[in-house]
Amino acid sequence: MRPIEKPAIPKTEFSFPIDGVLMNHLGTHCSICERPMPDQAWVWNQDTGKTIKGKSNQADWPHLLLLCHNCHDSQKTAPQELRPHLLLPDKDLTFRLDDKAELVYTLQPVSLVYLDDQGNPETAPNNVELVIVRACSPAAQATIDYFGLNTHYYNQNDNSFRIPKKDYLSMVDRRVDLRTEAWHNAQQYADYLKETDTELLINAFLQQARIIIQSGGFWSTWATVMWQSFHDKTLLEKLLLPRVEEEKPKKVNRLKATPMAAVTTSDSDKAKASIPTRNNTMPGTSRKWLL
Ligand SMILES: [Zn+2]
Repeated sequence: MRPIEKPAIPKTEFSFPIDGVLMNHLGTHCSICERPMPDQAWVWNQDTGKTIKGKSNQADWPHLLLLCHNCHDSQKTAPQELRPHLLLPDKDLTFRLDDKAELVYTLQPVSLVYLDDQGNPETAPNNVELVIVRACSPAAQATIDYFGLNTHYYNQNDNSFRIPKKDYLSMVDRRVDLRTEAWHNAQQYADYLKETDTELLINAFLQQARIIIQSGGFWSTWATVMWQSFHDKTLLEKLLLPRVEEEKPKKVNRLKATPMAAVTTSDSDKAKASIPTRNNTMPGTSRKWLL
């Protein structure tokens, strides 16, 4: 789970719907499963366990994260007593490169079974490889369970993935599928990069990967594959952190040009408003996992 740092933001930004504010500062990905969400998200308050629609305030800001519809659905039915024990990307070091990582992403063999409408096996078990998130601590297990990070089709006791055919066909919860696709993309990319030997090409490849990760999501999966392939912190830094020059977005006052300028704010607040640039990649990513 990509560790994130939420910046303090000026009061004026609370004049806007908070989902957009969060997406501007943290990127357009689910804070938990890391799938891409181009323009829509649920805003979840980790302090109350409730979701917020519309505007929010400075008091709630430190507790807010973005959820996709599947992570949102999972936490709604999860035991609420788990909530105080969760690993959360803005509070905990939810990804790290050493053997102290609590959440580990692994491509592993899984027994896949499709079920018919009555819940009976429609096919014989098929051995496939899926990227499953493993817990190395009780808090990590609580997090996986609370947000259903491996979906409710996966049973870790017998390592099976039992999915109703109609759920598969209607794409009810694709988080494991999408994460697995990201793994294969990252692996293929790593293989190409290993065969690349000129600096110009390597730099072009790195820039291309940043775009792929930004648009395709699953930061932790990419980080895992790239670390296993290269064991090179400098390479991971180039791929997975916001660009240094992008960390201080230009202060362009676009408030005057938008209808939202009609919201009553003081002049000093307007002056302090910083408008995040959307050509940034991996905004809000913490550096702590790299140290
Ligand atoms: Zn999610």
